[in-house]
Amino acid sequence: MYEREREELVERLVRWGYLSKRDIIDAFKKVPRHEFIPENIRDYSYADQPLSIGHGQTISAPSMIAIMLESLDLKAGQKVLEVGTGSGYNAALIAEVVGQMRRVFSIERIDELAEFGRANLKRTGYGWVKVVVGDGTCGYEKEAPWDRILVTACAPELPKPLVQQLKIGGKIGAPVGQHYMFQTWLVAERRGKKELKIEERGGCSFVPLVGKCGWKTGG
Ligand code: SAH
Repeated sequence: MYEREREELVERLVRWGYLSKRDIIDAFKKVPRHEFIPENIRDYSYADQPLSIGHGQTISAPSMIAIMLESLDLKAGQKVLEVGTGSGYNAALIAEVVGQMRRVFSIERIDELAEFGRANLKRTGYGWVKVVVGDGTCGYEKEAPWDRILVTACAPELPKPLVQQLKIGGKIGAPVGQHYMFQTWLVAERRGKKELKIEERGGCSFVPLVGKCGWKTGG
C-alpha cells in the first residue's frame, strides 16, 4: 500500500534539494511512513506536512526529517540516540541507515507514545530499536557515549548532558530556540572535551522538549 505515493514523495524531496545522500534516500524509499501515522489520518502520510500523533505531539514533515538526517552525516555502524520517539518513524529511518543491530536507542517521556512507537517499529521490522521511557534531556548515560544524538523536540539551548554524552568527534542535531514557531536547527560537533563547533542549519518549528536536565528554565 501507498508505494506509489512514497516513491513520488521521495522524488519531490530529491528534486527540491532536501534529499541528496544515497543511503538516506534509500531509507526514505524503504520505511513505510503510513505505518507510523494514526489510522484516521493515514491518507496524509505522504504529504509534506507534520501530522498529529496524539498527546499534543507531532511527527515532523518529511522535508524537515530529511534536513535533520542529512545534516548529521549518519553512517552504517554508528551508535545513535534519538530524543523524542513519538511515532518511531524517525528512529526507523535512523535504523535503516545505521543498519547495525542494537545500536539505535530512542527515548520518550510519554508512556503511551513510547508504546505506540515501539509497536510501529516492531510491525515494520525495526523491533530491535530500543525504546526507553524517560527524560531525554538527561540523555541516556547507561549506553553513552554516542556517535550521534538527534533531538526531535525544541529546547531553549542544547541540553548539557547530551553534549557530555557525545564521543569526541560525535555530532548532535537539535532544534533550539525560545519561540514556538521560530527555532533554529543546530548541528554541533564535539571537537574536544570542552570544544564544541556549532553550525546553524536553518529555521524550523518543533514541539517543546520538556525535561529537568540541562537548562535552568526547563519544564
Ligand atoms: N521523532 C518523532 C517525533 C516526535 S515529536 C517521530 O518520528 O514521530 C517530539 C517527541 O518528543 C514527543 O513525542 C514528545 O513527547 C517527546 N519529548 C518531549 N520532551 C522529551 C524529553 N525530555 N524526553 C523524551 N522525549 C521527550
